[in-house]
Formats: sequence, structure tokens, C-alpha cells
Amino acid sequence: MAKRIQFSATGGPEVLEYVDFEPKDPAAGEVQVENKAIGINYIDTYVRSGLYPAPLPSGLGSEAAGVVTKVGTGVSHIKVGDRVVYAQSSLGAYSEYHNVPAQKVAVLPEGISFEQAAASFLKGLTVQYLFRQTHKIKAGDIFLFHAAAGGVGLIASQWAKALGAKLIGTVGSDEKAALAKEAGAWATINYQTEDIAARVAELTQGEKVSVVYDSVGKSTWLASLDSLKRHGLLVSFGNASGPVKDVDLGILNQKGSLFVTRPSLNGYITTQEELAAASEELFSLIASDAIKVDVKDAQKFPLSQARRAHETLESRATTGSSLLIPGS
Ligand code: NDP
Repeated sequence: MAKRIQFSATGGPEVLEYVDFEPKDPAAGEVQVENKAIGINYIDTYVRSGLYPAPLPSGLGSEAAGVVTKVGTGVSHIKVGDRVVYAQSSLGAYSEYHNVPAQKVAVLPEGISFEQAAASFLKGLTVQYLFRQTHKIKAGDIFLFHAAAGGVGLIASQWAKALGAKLIGTVGSDEKAALAKEAGAWATINYQTEDIAARVAELTQGEKVSVVYDSVGKSTWLASLDSLKRHGLLVSFGNASGPVKDVDLGILNQKGSLFVTRPSLNGYITTQEELAAASEELFSLIASDAIKVDVKDAQKFPLSQARRAHETLESRATTGSSLLIPGS
């Protein structure tokens, strides 16, 4: 028997249960991974709450790093004993063992630890497609990125600096502002106390920005549109404050013939080749220290304490990434 997190009804963190289960052999095309560090992502809270529906009962989580223990038929590029990381698995990564399609698995380079990998893979791949595919960020560009001290946000702040671009990061506290700046943000806006669009206008001498990356959703939607210059692009990629609903498209005309896109990681990094290319880019930035992923000890939770981990994430108390550690 092994342990995993499961939920049988949607709701708050209290629906998460730590249960026994019997790991199955991997199906054709899959590998079984013994997870050593599991990535916690905000999307996991959307699945748990029912915002993103899942058939119940369900496992949770889609990202972890560990060691391959079994290989299904038809898998050639991964073998037993490989140190690997995966994102985009079926729900159930909050577990001691998880079976994952081999095409969603990357072999870890020597210098990257399980914790670093699980803290950065899904979030780093997200920044890769946002900055390198959805809208190509170039040296000198000034743009707005919400929640810049979060898991995705601290990686984005570092990646922007590596590209020579100027990221204006919103944050919920002065402590988070300092962290985002240290990571590479060019400027920060505390959206608990400052007017986002007014500060963006001030920081850009009235020009405003060509692109806004918004994972906060409901509470920042209007400020994001108001921060854009004519023909600007809003990349709406998350719902931390709730989803944006009931949009009258006329607002895009009124605010300057704007563009909006609602992308997802699975829509950009789909094939094994796409995963290999994006992960190589991410791993090389980590290897060169351009991107550092240090998880605070207080944000490494035993797998059995997934509830507490979700409570902490949703209370906005975390900075950077958080992990679940099996067997602890
Ligand atoms: P974070 O660590 O960034 O945590 C979310 C942060 O959002 C909080 O720390 C908080 O930062 C901010 N926030 C603003 N308003 C609220 C609110 N009302 N309640 C809670 N938090 C709020 O999470 P992740 O790094 O895991 O993910 C960041 C975002 O990116 C999420 O929205 C996620 O869904 C999205 N995402 C989207 C993907 C895609 O492909 N579409 C892929 C991966 C992530 P502060 O206190 O500074 O405001």
C-alpha cells in the first residue's frame, strides 16, 4: 500500500483526505514515478473547489519530480532508475507513486534537485510559453505581470531580467515587493494600496504597456485593460481572485481596440518535442543561475498536510513555490 491525497466532494481544503491506495502497473506508454517532491500549483485549488470540474472521487495535482520505478510497454526514452520531472499529468500527483504518460516526462539534468524541479517545472514551462510563444518579450520591453512574488511570478521576474526586459510586477505586500525586485522585477506596484493603471502610466511616462499578463482574474481585469496602450494585449491566464465572467466585448473597443487571449499550458506545450524544447530552455536558465528556485522551509509540507498547504496558498501567505514532500 502507498499514500495519496484524494477528495470525494468539492469544497475547501477540508475535503482533502490522506488515504491508502494500491499503485497500479503503468499502462502502455506510461511510466510509474516514485515522487520525491510534488509541486503545488494554484490550479490545484480550482480543481479541489470545483471551479475546474473533475470526476469524483479524484486524486489531485499534476506535477512532481522523482525516480522511475516501472516502465509500460512502448516507452523507449525513459528507463527504470531515471531521475525525472513531469507536469501536465492526469490528476493524482499528490501521491507517493503516480503513473504518467512518458511524453509528459523529462529526464532531469544532473545539477537540478528533485525539489528545484518540482518547484519550477510547471511554473517555468508556463513562463516559457507566455514570454516566448503567446507574446514574444524582447530586450527593452516594459510590461505588466500580476502576482510577481508568487510561484509563477518569481520565475517570470527572473526570466524577464534574463531577457533584458522591464517587468512591472504587482504584489500584495511590501515584503513581496522586495522579493520581486530582488528576483529581477524592474518596478513593483502594491495593489493593496496603489492604483495599478495610474502607477503603470506614471512608470511609463504616460505611454502604458503593450502587454499585461494577468493570473489574478476578476479583481484586476479592469485595471489590466486600463494599463494597456492602444492595440495592447491582455493575456488572461488564471483566476486567483475568481474568474472573469460576463464580458461585454465592446469594452475592448472602448479601451483602445485591445486584444485578449486566455491561454493554457496544455494548449502551448502539447507534444513530446514541444516539451523537450521548452524544458531545455528552462533547465539551461536554472543551470546558469539566471533562474533560482529556493523554496522556503515553511512552504515544504508533508504530503499528509496538503490541507494546510492549500490553506496557506489561498491565504496569500506564500511567496515563490510550495512543495509537498512524500514520506514525511
Ligand atoms: P501563486 O504562488 O502565484 O499564488 C497566487 C497569488 O495570487 C497569491 O500569492 C497572491 O499574491 C495572488 N492573489 C491575488 N488575489 C488573490 C486572491 N483573491 N486570493 C488568492 N491569491 C490572490 O500561484 P501559482 O504560481 O501556482 O499560479 C499563479 C497563477 O498562474 C494562478 O492564477 C494559476 O492559476 C495561473 N497559472 C496558469 C497557467 C496557465 O497555463 N493558464 C499555468 C500555471 C499557472 P499577492 O498576495 O501578491 O497578491
